[in-house]
Parts: sequence; C-alpha cells; structure tokens
Amino acid sequence: MAKRKKNNTSVVLGAAVILFVAVLSISYALSSRRQPDMIEDTTNTTTEEITSTEPVTQPATEEQTQTPAPTTEKAVAPSTEPQTKEVSADPLPVPAAVTITESNWNLVLVNLYYKMPDDYKVTLAPCIPGSDVKLDYRVAEYYEKMYNAAKADGITLTPYSGYRSKDRQNSNFNRKIDSYISQGYSPAQAKVLAAQSIMPPGCSEHNLGLAMDIAGTDANFYKTAAYKWLMENAADYGFILRYPEDKVHITKVKYEPWHWRYVGVEAAKAMKASGQCLEEYLGKLPPS
Ligand SMILES: [Zn+2]
Repeated sequence: MAKRKKNNTSVVLGAAVILFVAVLSISYALSSRRQPDMIEDTTNTTTEEITSTEPVTQPATEEQTQTPAPTTEKAVAPSTEPQTKEVSADPLPVPAAVTITESNWNLVLVNLYYKMPDDYKVTLAPCIPGSDVKLDYRVAEYYEKMYNAAKADGITLTPYSGYRSKDRQNSNFNRKIDSYISQGYSPAQAKVLAAQSIMPPGCSEHNLGLAMDIAGTDANFYKTAAYKWLMENAADYGFILRYPEDKVHITKVKYEPWHWRYVGVEAAKAMKASGQCLEEYLGKLPPS
C-alpha cells in the first residue's frame, strides 16, 4: 500500500514537472514570436528605410557630421599648444543683412557674407508628412511632390532636418566654437573653424526654412541611389545641391551631398544646365 502511494506521488510529481516545462516552452515561444513583430512595428511607424544601391550608414547626429573632426594633425598635436597652422588669421566677415521680399524670397543668398534680417519671421508649413520636420510654407509642397515622385521610383527621400531656429543655430555654433577652444585654438581661430561646418546664426538656409538635409548628414550620402535620383530630378521640383564638391572655394562650405536648397523650378533648372552654384548664378561671389 505504501509502495503504491509512493508510485502515485511520483506520477503526480512527474506530470507536474512535464506540465511546468510545457507551460514554460509555450510562454517562451509566444514571447519570442511577439518580439520581432514589435520591432517591425516600430520601424514601420518611425523611419522608412532608404532604398539605395549601397547601404547608408546610420545617420549621425547633426553635431557629429556637421562638425567633422577637422584633420588628423589636430589629434596628434598637444592640445595645450594653439594651432596656428592652416587656420586663417582673418576674422569672419561681418555679414550684411539682405532684403527679403515676396518676389525674391526663393533666391535669397545667406552665407558668411549675407544674413537674414534680424526681424524676419519665417512662416512654416505643417510638418512634412511622416516626420517632425518643417519647411517654409511655400517650399513644403514642392518637397512633398519631389518626395512622392522619388517614392514612385522606389527612392525614399527621408526628411531629416529642415527649419531650424536662429536660437538653436546660435547654440550649435557656440558649442562648436567651445569645442575648438578646448582643443587649443584661439577664440578667433575657433570661430573661423566652426564656421566651416556650422553657419553662424542668421546665415544658415535652415534658419529661413528653405533647405532640407535629406536622410541625415552623412558624407557618404553621395553614394546612394537617393543622391543619384536627386542629381537627376531635384531641379524639376526647384531644389539644388547647394554646396557641391567643386564649388567649395566659392561657397566656403564643405561638400554637403545631403543639403538641398529650394530656389524655384526655373532657377534650379538654369543652374543645373549651367553648372553654376547659387553665388555664381546671382553674381554675388565672395571677395577673393
Ligand atoms: Zn543642411
């Protein structure tokens, strides 16, 4: 009798163990099935992948890419010693305020020599659908048309950065200056260096809501199918590659394959045909 009871207990214990293992397996299977779904959902609702012939590297933060480590010589030199080599001793020019009217707004030139009027108020369109990025109300519809045309060709022109306030531009610029000063540059040199990658406040096309950084601020963007598409088609929607590789001596801004500026369809097509950058097209070359 005692033996049978012991047997029964073993059977019950055995069954309990099997049941426990089964419950564990089922719950594990369920949780591992749910996991990928959740990940897919978030990717679908946030950013879409960029279709390209070559993979686009993770978009770095604006700070990282708009402010690339200038050169290797900087890293090698001791940080306490000021870097006088290769940094212009000339202070930055004092930019002149431009006049913006209803008829010239799309061709306004801002750069190190020209800035937007201090009291200029940008009127923004609602966010570009599927993003938190805004553009001037007259430009957003052109970006959306271009986005849709690219999409029809299997290309995603992910809006990354459009309008940026002057306050934000100012803090980005000052942070950049501070980082150069902490590397041993004088304040004047630091300002010149900072301006090579971040425009001073009021001098950026982003402050006007006329420019869009597409898919990030990645120097390798020029290798993508999205870039190729833009080079072929962006002018039809009024956008130009604002800082081409072969115009750095004029724009004073490094090659930015991701930065596209609205100038209007007519001007964009003319510039594409002539190969001119905006300064050349407007006849406003910087002093040599
Ligand atoms: Zn930009």
